[in-house]
Amino acid sequence: MTQAQAQTPAGDQTLIPNDFIRDIVAQHVAAKTHPRIHTRFPPEPNGYLHIGHAKSICLNFGIAREFGGVCNLRMDDTNPTKEDLEYVDSIQADVNWLIRGWADDVLGLKPRGGRPTATVIHGQPDFHLAPVTAAARPEAVEPFYASDYFGPLYEYAVALIKQGKAYVCDLTPEQTDEYRRLGKASPHRDRSVAENLDLFTRMKNGEFPDGCRVLRAKICVDAPNIWLRDPLLYRIKHAEHHQTGRQWCIYPMYDFAHCLSDYLEGITHSVCTLEFEVHRPLYDWILENLNLPRPRPHQYEFARLNLSYTVMSKRKLMQLVEEQRVTGWDDPRLPTISGLRRRGVTPEALRHFAYNIGITKYNGITDLAVLEFAIREDLNQRALRRLAVLRPLKVVLTNYLVGREEEMEATNNPENPAAGKRKVPFSRELYIEQDDFAEVPPPKFYRLKPGGEVRLKYAYIIRCEEVVKDASGNLVELRCTADLDSKTGGATAARKVKGTIHWVSAPHAVDAEVRLYDRLFTEAEPEKDGRDFKSVLNPHSLEILTAKCEPSLRSATFTERYQFERLAYFALDPDATPARDGGRLVFNRTITLKDTWAKQAQKREGQ
Ligand code: ATP
Ligand code: MG
Repeated sequence: MTQAQAQTPAGDQTLIPNDFIRDIVAQHVAAKTHPRIHTRFPPEPNGYLHIGHAKSICLNFGIAREFGGVCNLRMDDTNPTKEDLEYVDSIQADVNWLIRGWADDVLGLKPRGGRPTATVIHGQPDFHLAPVTAAARPEAVEPFYASDYFGPLYEYAVALIKQGKAYVCDLTPEQTDEYRRLGKASPHRDRSVAENLDLFTRMKNGEFPDGCRVLRAKICVDAPNIWLRDPLLYRIKHAEHHQTGRQWCIYPMYDFAHCLSDYLEGITHSVCTLEFEVHRPLYDWILENLNLPRPRPHQYEFARLNLSYTVMSKRKLMQLVEEQRVTGWDDPRLPTISGLRRRGVTPEALRHFAYNIGITKYNGITDLAVLEFAIREDLNQRALRRLAVLRPLKVVLTNYLVGREEEMEATNNPENPAAGKRKVPFSRELYIEQDDFAEVPPPKFYRLKPGGEVRLKYAYIIRCEEVVKDASGNLVELRCTADLDSKTGGATAARKVKGTIHWVSAPHAVDAEVRLYDRLFTEAEPEKDGRDFKSVLNPHSLEILTAKCEPSLRSATFTERYQFERLAYFALDPDATPARDGGRLVFNRTITLKDTWAKQAQKREGQ
């Protein structure tokens, strides 16, 4: 595929990636094999979405928007005991956040409560799932649910039984595994169609307890591909389902539900991760043996995203949440979409990351630094620069008149002149960063030292004249003098000193809680060699400080991103309250300005 072929919405600057799946889609588009390209993103609502899902979302919605298609969000909700409405809601919120303004116009939605009926199996689908837009009446539409198809799926299963292609099996789960491993036929394999129909109906009617019977496809007992060894299609679960309540006590297995859900929705390209490659023959077998009209969906597989210094499986994320190792699914240290959002990462940054890492067939581990780079690039463009001091050290300018105040002009964003300038108050008493002063400076220390000079950004050059300590020898404040001609427009404005540091005027400063996040794990591969991933949690992954900020941050907003100059990028946390409600400022450090992890790790080892 060339970039020119892709139908990029006008004005979009994102580079269209090139990969083997898009190549296949482009060929199909050129050959007009499908009236329209239709993909789907099918999460199971048994946890929150993570950045691996973001890769899949960007791929599936990306294909739809590039090729004039549609992408359905489908809850793959066939296992009621593990699922929950909280997850359904979070998935919708996360997907909407990630695609808003980018691919929301290709999101397939269905009329609320829309469900296919059983007649669908006898010819053309009567449930034509033409996507509807949310624009007119958002309350009238909803995402797709595999549970919407429980009726037709049951009918499809009956159709297989009637053809002698499925049977009810009474082996225990352990026996089933053993028989399949050995390639041995179940003793129930040759039940008559009538008996199978009777038993399956009674399974559905709730006559049997959980686990006592299953429905299996009759394919082959010793196929080289174990997934074809008479796989399970249905199991008994007397459980309440978040969408269908108590209507069903048998639930279809993933392999049975997935291909048929794809079929019912008119999916053309069913894109999933590599572990499903071995399931593909079963996906095709079911569609083939039900004699469904063409065109049928086809499955394509790509390598999942693995990221260093984190864990991605929902089961492990759930453990961290449940054991309160983190504050919740949206803890900014987690690789969940809601965690990244809370941390201050933008959807644009995640989409760039997803596009940059590419789509391949090879499993590997992506360095967390790649994600961090994408986040920095994005924030560098958009963040408003602000002055804030995380670990304050008082500075008194002895030659600056008591009570005098000035306003210094500061640039909001050097990357974006349109962001303009602002005034920052300056006075005799300031805070600087403790780190920016050293009584006994190491070599090449270009910040403030006794007798040394430094420039205060947007303001004067100052000289440290005296170091004031308390009775126990702790540093209390620095007494400095300012070169009062060294500010912009002054006689010595051009004078150069080696270091420039940030500052905040003490009487004008506003306090903010700042939450400094670091990597959640100390090891790149937390689960390496079967180690308990919780044994390598980073004890320094969260540090909370009270920072002194320039007063303009009092009106910080949830939508803006900020760079505290020379420090890091920050975003307001939802725990913050607007000025009218008490004005509590809480900032999350989204990411440091530079990749300093390697340096810090060394320092820690040396401690
Ligand atoms: P996990 O293994 O993290 O629990 P899952 O595969 O069970 O995730 P699903 O809800 O079934 O999660 O996934 C929905 C879709 O997202 C699937 O198509 C799956 O292939 C894809 N997906 C899941 N994890 C990743 C990942 N790490 N990278 C890319 N795609 C992923
Ligand atoms: Mg899964």
